[in-house]
Amino acid sequence: MSLLVVGTVAYDSVSTKSGSRENAPGGSAFYFSISSSFFTSSSLVGVVGSDYSEKYFSMLEKSGVNIDGLEKVDGETFRWSGKYNDDDFNQRETLETHLNVLENFNPTLNTSNKNSKYLFLANIDPKIQNQVLDQMQTKPKIVALDTMNFWIDDHQNNLSSVIENVDIIFMDENEIKSFTKKDNIITAAKFVRQLGPRIVIVKKGEHGAIMFNEGDIFTAPAFPIEKVIDPTGAGDCFAGGFMGYLSGSDDLSPQSLRKALIVASVMGSFAVEGFSTEKLAQITHSDIEDRFRGIHGMTTFEPLNNNDTLPKRIS
Ligand code: AMP
Repeated sequence: MSLLVVGTVAYDSVSTKSGSRENAPGGSAFYFSISSSFFTSSSLVGVVGSDYSEKYFSMLEKSGVNIDGLEKVDGETFRWSGKYNDDDFNQRETLETHLNVLENFNPTLNTSNKNSKYLFLANIDPKIQNQVLDQMQTKPKIVALDTMNFWIDDHQNNLSSVIENVDIIFMDENEIKSFTKKDNIITAAKFVRQLGPRIVIVKKGEHGAIMFNEGDIFTAPAFPIEKVIDPTGAGDCFAGGFMGYLSGSDDLSPQSLRKALIVASVMGSFAVEGFSTEKLAQITHSDIEDRFRGIHGMTTFEPLNNNDTLPKRIS
């Protein structure tokens, strides 16, 4: 099934304790589409400036991403720079955000994109997320959304109006707490579900993720990684794995949603092992399957059957 993503395509300058990159390819839609394309046909809607290198268009195309909807306009590409805390990869400081060509971006979807069965509104101005949602001709089977503090803090009203119209929302622990002003993620997820999305996925970095789906709560661990290089884009690759799996399998059963969360965790684990999409460019589909099996092995244990008991102290 077709998967459409709208989001940022960027030049990122990132520094972590493992090194740094200047003007590396990044952006929420860039990461998402490269990750999801392992599983399904993805199309990208976004904008870049005249300074955007041909080699990154080719990189997307070689990964199988349809870039008919990636506009190139006069001006500079969206730029973001950030620095990670040397002692804690969960602490990131945004140094600069230059919206550039994103400021005047008004996406126009082609007929094929207007009829996509799966839609992902990646992290971008909620106004643009709404414009894409409004242009859909047939209601997608699933609309999912991701965002970040930049939009939560200053565009709360626009963001809330998109959230009302999506099926699935991805937020990290800090984002959901700040958006809902609640300090417990279960309470926060309940609050968000009341706004509209029936599935809320809370990402907790190296501590995995929790999915709240109607009454079903499912947790996925993060795949243990010994050397994290750069966590930038891990959330987008995570969402790419999740949506890519759903779109590729076209199965929305609770079991399939659980598998999608494991695939998400696997894709996030590859993303952090290199700057930009450097690691993703080296992996194969069977590397992904190996980690999927690995997580299964790490998390299975025998159930407590009817006649089984746990040891009990005899007093
Ligand atoms: P993540 O590490 O999952 O938060 O994703 C980081 C990616 O998001 C980087 O590649 C940035 O280019 C992109 N990004 C940073 N700030 C924004 C923003 N305000 N809106 C959309 N994308 C952004």
